Amino acid sequence: MTQPASTSGTAKIKSPTPMIAQYLQVKESHPDSLLFYRMGDFYEMFFEDAEIGASALGITLTKRGKSDGDDIPMCGVPVHSVDGYLSRLISAGHRVAICEQVEDPAEQKKRGGKGPLRRDVVRILTPGTLTEDDLLPPRSHNYLAALGQSGDGMALAWADMSTGDFAVQDLASVRLDSLLAMLAPAELVCLPDALSPEMLQGLTTCISEQAPSLFDSSAGQRALCGYYGVTSLDGFGQFTRPMLSAAGALLGYIELTQKGNMPRLRPLSQIGDGGYMEIDQATRRSLEITRTLGGETKGSLLSAIDMTVTAAGGRLLAARLGAPLAGCDAIQARLDLVAWFVDHQDLCVDLRGLQKGLPDMDRALSRLGMGHGGPRDLDALARSLTVAAEMVALAASRTSLAPPANLDGLYKTVMAPAGLASDLTPALADELPLLARDGGFVRHGFDPALDELRALRDESRRLIAALQQDYVTSTGIASLKVKHNNVLGYHVDVRSAHAEKLMQDERFIHRQTTAQTVRFTTTDLAQLERDLSTAADRALARELEIFDRLRELALSSSDSLSAAARALAEIDVAMASAQLACKRHYCRPDIRDDISFEIIKGRHAVIESLMPAGETFIPNDCGLGDSGDIWLVTGPNMAGKSTFLRQNAHIAIMAQAGLYVPAEQACIGVIDRIFSRVGAADDLARGRSTFMVEMVETAAILNRATDRSFVILDEIGRGTATYDGLAIAWATLEHLHQQNRCRTLFATHYHELTNLRHALDRLSCHSMKVREWDGEIIFLHQVIDGAADRSYGVHVARLAGLPAAVIGRAQALLSEMEAGGHGVIDAGKLVEDLPLFDHDFSAVEAGAESAGLNLGSASASAEALRSRLESINPDLLAPREALDLVYELRDLISDARDG
Ligand code: ADP
Ligand code: MG
Repeated sequence: MTQPASTSGTAKIKSPTPMIAQYLQVKESHPDSLLFYRMGDFYEMFFEDAEIGASALGITLTKRGKSDGDDIPMCGVPVHSVDGYLSRLISAGHRVAICEQVEDPAEQKKRGGKGPLRRDVVRILTPGTLTEDDLLPPRSHNYLAALGQSGDGMALAWADMSTGDFAVQDLASVRLDSLLAMLAPAELVCLPDALSPEMLQGLTTCISEQAPSLFDSSAGQRALCGYYGVTSLDGFGQFTRPMLSAAGALLGYIELTQKGNMPRLRPLSQIGDGGYMEIDQATRRSLEITRTLGGETKGSLLSAIDMTVTAAGGRLLAARLGAPLAGCDAIQARLDLVAWFVDHQDLCVDLRGLQKGLPDMDRALSRLGMGHGGPRDLDALARSLTVAAEMVALAASRTSLAPPANLDGLYKTVMAPAGLASDLTPALADELPLLARDGGFVRHGFDPALDELRALRDESRRLIAALQQDYVTSTGIASLKVKHNNVLGYHVDVRSAHAEKLMQDERFIHRQTTAQTVRFTTTDLAQLERDLSTAADRALARELEIFDRLRELALSSSDSLSAAARALAEIDVAMASAQLACKRHYCRPDIRDDISFEIIKGRHAVIESLMPAGETFIPNDCGLGDSGDIWLVTGPNMAGKSTFLRQNAHIAIMAQAGLYVPAEQACIGVIDRIFSRVGAADDLARGRSTFMVEMVETAAILNRATDRSFVILDEIGRGTATYDGLAIAWATLEHLHQQNRCRTLFATHYHELTNLRHALDRLSCHSMKVREWDGEIIFLHQVIDGAADRSYGVHVARLAGLPAAVIGRAQALLSEMEAGGHGVIDAGKLVEDLPLFDHDFSAVEAGAESAGLNLGSASASAEALRSRLESINPDLLAPREALDLVYELRDLISDARDG
């Protein structure tokens, strides 16, 4: 991330003003943050911070005073609209330290101080430590992660401060890159140089390097015990030293940035080994799980299937899709919930209607816990609990069938803190201000003492208004007005023409004369104003007291509140999947503890959802048996190979996330790792030297796929010269078949590979059905048994508008090659000749060369002419086609002559 280069140019200032001196002192302890220095209604930046800030925000750079003869650059943003500016700075990778006044004039006087009021940094905003709604996308998590280290071991801890989630995982058996890909943390805290350059490549996370002391595992253990107020962490689980280092560093970093104002975090949870399906970054990208290759949400698998009605539900669905489970029972439990809602559609629709748009309890609770919550956050809790209770009551009233045990458990969790609603709801007014200090949020009738103070305040206001009538009558000046401004407070205001009259009246004290009007104060007005402001101050103080009490009350049940929020999110996700299942005819996958993979009439969730009305997606079966079968899929471009591969990977991911899947039937043996690679030519977004990347990524599969894994390879080897690509694809297939023995779908344009079916017994050939009609081909998008007999590339070229002459020539060449008379590669023969794993590809190259030599020769052209003539059916030729044909045939003759 970009860091301001500290205030190097300012350290040598000899005689700064007291204010600049104070600024420099604060800045010195926050060299790596932009310092937002509060002055009245603005946050100001100075020196280099001002230059960085002004250019990052596109605001005017001004100056304030001089230091040693040079102007001091300055820029500022208004306090009331600071959030927008903060979010732009944070997303540009900056850290921002908020420096506020930390004493009032009375305190300053008491300590006998002079000069500027004491100021200090109250909080440092970094990408991973945000909690404000305005700064965060509602439907995704914002994780702060910390990489801990102890001895040889490493662990990663992560927390979302805006929701309270907090977890840690040992990296002994889980790869850091996969974990980071799953979490996509906004910020990663680590030791200096902890990440290798390869790790850093492609990581969009902001890296915050911290001193080694932050990562001490013993200190971490103490910090965790202190944070949770326990003497031992045994009640939370068993944590390794690296885990303590990671979780401790995370807590320490939060303390550092929040200046001790700690968020409420759930009990530290531990992610066990093998809990999740492993999905590496390349696979996530190519399957477009939560984002498309172009980086957008729309068009991703998540956006196609997300029907949740709350932000927390959206976050949970995203998290589940990003981290599908790898344990049968846990998956079944989620599916049971969905199934129950599928069986009770009417109830599901009504419950969703109630839950829709429910406020974000997690984030409200987190803000209240951090001390920046307001009345609306209390209201969010109250409303959520009220609606949750309505949902549970509705469910109970509607069905004579008892809900399954786990749903019943969720209902109970939801209801546990329900009593809080009856404490909060009567206290809160209908219209609520954002901040407690704006007052006016306690409902009339809730607190008699407050109502009395408000009555006093209103009475004073009424008396002030009445006084105006008094003065009008007694002075006879009908246009006399009682007005209020910040300088004079309440005062009498008359036009200049009437001023003389009041000057004579000793009740009126002359204060101000302007061009149009003359202003007076009176002792009566002053007294009423004092009464008014005392009553208003006391009313506000009383409201703040009530706010604090309610806030404490809410926080005292924060554990059961966050459990309730989580349960509501789970219900939302289950109902969303049920709703989707009914709307788009998804089915419950049958999850097993074996290596089956049997999909009947599977569809692609995203393409299907984007299909224009009237068009239907063609479903396809996929059966990888139960012995690590490989399907080799061939067929022309645009026939639907990639779609077929991806839909099966998506189905596996959705199934293990505990969701229904777009198929008529699906039977899936739990997959431990899923891999997807797309040949470079299909992957335009990346723009890097592609072949190397492709090979590195393929290597990862061959090294890591187990017999429980699922692999899709889409035209790998394309990024290089034909025979290199063919050779690599060939050897990869063999390795997958013999060594990895994983379930594999392999799409290729190398027809030679289909001959491998003779050598590899678990490899079978499949192709995309096309129909030829009137010289055109029609893609049926159907997967059928057997290899495609030809590539149809020539037909696609015709569709693409290549000149007829070129098409004709290509077709002629093709027929000739297929006739096999000119040294075209006989891959079938290769298979028989060569032992597995020890190929000599020179034979392939030699075949290519001899083909190349012959193709240009005169006899080849004559042959081409003959076969072209043979292929013509004059009855079917339109006049225009006949003309084209004549040109084409002439070209063939001239080719023959030239040769
Ligand atoms: P290939 O990988 O064989 O070149 P794609 O999988 O990219 O082909 O598919 C090409 C286009 O065909 C896709 O954009 C999609 O819209 C359409 N398509 C693919 N499969 C189907 C299907 N089963 N039903 C309907 N349309 C499909
Ligand atoms: Mg493709």
